[in-house]
Amino acid sequence: MTSVMWFRRDLRVNDNKALYHACKEEDLILLFQVNPEQFIKGSPSHQAFFASVAHFKQELNKNTHLQIMFGDPIELLKQLKEKIPTWDKVFFNRDETGYGASRDEAAQAFFADKEITVHSYHDSYLHSAEEVKKSATEYYKIFTPYYKKWREEIKEIPLKVALKPENIRKESLFPKYEEQFRELIQDLPAFDSGEKAANTRLANFVKEDLANYDKARDVPALDKTSHLSRYLRTGEISIRTVWQALQKEEATEGRATFEKELCWRDFYNMIYVSFPKQKNEPIQENYRFIEWENNREFFKKWQDGQTGFPLVDAAMRQLKETGWMHNRLRMITASFLTKDLLIDWRFGEKYFQQMLIDYDPASNIGGWQWAASTGTDAVPYFRIFNPTTQSEKFDPDGRFIRKYVKELRDLPAKFIHQPEKMSETEQQEHGMILGKDYPFPIIDHKERRKLAIARYEFSKEHSRGNI
Ligand SMILES: Cc1cc2nc3c(=O)[nH]c(=O)nc-3n(C[C@H](O)[C@H](O)[C@H](O)COP(=O)(O)OP(=O)(O)OC[C@H]3O[C@@H](n4cnc5c(N)ncnc54)[C@H](O)[C@@H]3O)c2cc1C
Repeated sequence: MTSVMWFRRDLRVNDNKALYHACKEEDLILLFQVNPEQFIKGSPSHQAFFASVAHFKQELNKNTHLQIMFGDPIELLKQLKEKIPTWDKVFFNRDETGYGASRDEAAQAFFADKEITVHSYHDSYLHSAEEVKKSATEYYKIFTPYYKKWREEIKEIPLKVALKPENIRKESLFPKYEEQFRELIQDLPAFDSGEKAANTRLANFVKEDLANYDKARDVPALDKTSHLSRYLRTGEISIRTVWQALQKEEATEGRATFEKELCWRDFYNMIYVSFPKQKNEPIQENYRFIEWENNREFFKKWQDGQTGFPLVDAAMRQLKETGWMHNRLRMITASFLTKDLLIDWRFGEKYFQQMLIDYDPASNIGGWQWAASTGTDAVPYFRIFNPTTQSEKFDPDGRFIRKYVKELRDLPAKFIHQPEKMSETEQQEHGMILGKDYPFPIIDHKERRKLAIARYEFSKEHSRGNI
């Protein structure tokens, strides 16, 4: 009898719940499927993900073998069953939302039909959506009560996984797919992938930055957040390992704030379970009638970091150059796109999906619906970030701006947040001519703020049948 361990976004050996159980089997196949339909070729988000798969395969292939298959998941499962008729058990960590959840549902039907016993686990979150609920039938909508309940729940401790290479198939079952995989990964840029890199990142963060996380986390120039998001997204580190590392530390404000951020991750997963249509639909019905402008030229300027608002531009350039953006800046750029440029948040969400090496559907959609005020427990529509005051507050000396907007590098602090305030003489003096070296602001924030509020109010009245 043969068992399959089907990996997805759990690219690790340590504390991998499904693998822990699969390791007890005597004839085991390790499997990863690539669905090309899901692959946006060349996008940093996918490059980073497949670099992690490649790294994981390389590690496993040292004394076992990660089988790769290419194509539609159900078709591939059929091929595997034809090739291995003794296959009778499958182990995997299941997905609760989005593409993964619908794939798992289709796969369950296949397994039932073929009499393959399913052993599936919740692995990605400290608490699955069903574990922290208001009542048996009701999910939370607001973060604070959710967080209170979430804190009280007991967190699982990491499992020690002992691979038994002697029980794992080492020959390649589908060489043609392995060849396709080699082609897919051959030109990938280098990423700091793998369990080891993830654990080092965690250890360094806990040692150096955890205690002061509450104070430093909002200042992009300090770069004092953990950067664990990309490893949590691929599962190169388990969330329980992160939690356990925190529990060994002194109970500081820094630690408490960081734990709360991990709760946001669980919260947005739960929200996605309770609003499965949230990728395409605003959660709040009141804001389904906003009249977006969707100006293409503005969208391109936002993507390219050419809006004339220095901190917005620095953030968007950081995303393009590194595939990552600081949380404060994700909030500022998302607010700017939706409330200042009046561009539908769904365009921004899709752009981040392509660009972010830590792209996670639940957190990204959650973050965008929060910023666009369309989500549950989102920022109220009338509290609109002022991109200039945000810049003065969170990048006071312009250190972050200077790093990414090189043409502003030599400006004195008094102009760094608003270069358009310089006279022509001052521009010449600093070697930076507006309209030539750096753009004038593409919109007037005060006017756009008023317009945005009016559009949100219109939508609210319209949805209530008052207009
Ligand atoms: C518009 C927008 C889009 C976002 N898109 C994503 C995304 O695609 N993937 C993603 O992982 N996060 C996303 N976030 C949340 C947050 O910005 C990132 O998790 C964080 O910046 C990652 O950096 P870090 O690991 O250094 O975070 P840290 O500050 O070190 O936080 C530790 C961990 O807590 C979790 N976390 C922190 N803040 C949040 C949050 N607001 N929501 C959910 N989880 C959080 C993450 O897993 C993170 O790795 C988004 C936020 C916004 C406003």
